[in-house]
Amino acid sequence: MSPRLPMLMWPGGSARLTILFYHRVLAQPDPLRNWEFDASAFAEHMALIAERMSPLPLLEAVDLLRRGKLPKRACCVTFDDGYADNLTVAWPILQRYRVPATVFVATAYLDGGRMFNDTLTEMVARCRGPLLDVEAFGLGRYALNTPLQRRQAVSGLLALAKRMPPTERDATIAEAVRAVGLADLPDDLMLTTAQLRELAGHGVEIGGHTHSHAILTTLDASAAEAEVEAGRHRLESIIGRKIRAFAYPNGIPGSDYAGEHAAMVRRLGFECAVSTARGVATAECDSFQLPRFQPWTSSALKLAAHLVRNAWAGGASQAV
Ligand SMILES: [Zn+2]
Repeated sequence: MSPRLPMLMWPGGSARLTILFYHRVLAQPDPLRNWEFDASAFAEHMALIAERMSPLPLLEAVDLLRRGKLPKRACCVTFDDGYADNLTVAWPILQRYRVPATVFVATAYLDGGRMFNDTLTEMVARCRGPLLDVEAFGLGRYALNTPLQRRQAVSGLLALAKRMPPTERDATIAEAVRAVGLADLPDDLMLTTAQLRELAGHGVEIGGHTHSHAILTTLDASAAEAEVEAGRHRLESIIGRKIRAFAYPNGIPGSDYAGEHAAMVRRLGFECAVSTARGVATAECDSFQLPRFQPWTSSALKLAAHLVRNAWAGGASQAV
């Protein structure tokens, strides 16, 4: 046991389930993606989780929570979207520390797809000149002289793109990429079907995250259901196992999904669903709106402090 890691002063009383969520785990730090974790930071996190928490598979933890049998400091690790580095970088670390995990996959991006946020980040990374001008596409104009300006350009682009109607966004970004003259954008960021099978074969739970990462509140009821079902059927056909858990894209209660979507996910036969509301799950929580905790620090000591603060803050009151 590492002497650097603190004991965690955990609240007593009713059981609390901490569910962490990540997206990418980069092989090396990337200054343009300073919000993502790299392998060494992720390894520090998993060392802490393995030594000080009780890591459990998500479905088992939710079952124990329902039955009042959850161990103290119960913790689950989840990933959203389906990045290839979940297998190539995160998996060996999860295996080293024996931490179970769930990966929620948006199936439209398997086998060479790229999410819009990654296209915009790559646009800045590959733009060699001092200026990126995509104002004509409603995406702004940015100086790129310093690393800070490049990070600000990524933030600015993401903020503007997020406000675009999803149906127009991909086409607009594709036009901007063509206009800037960028070629060879990466097509290996997301899992391939073979990698997804490999991840599932290692015992990683695969969960649904819709087909095209659709924000459910932007769709009518039948389109929302079609998105959820298309993603699940594709995953089940790839891994040959039932998909039992779901994560709402973006996941903010009331904004990205509504109570009707939680009811739909339950009706479709999933066993639990996770949001991105902060907090810790308690027995009183809706199993189809479990809160999650996104670690924002790469330091294990700071993560320990966040875990404790989150646990003392109690159950999520942000369900819809
Ligand atoms: Zn997502």
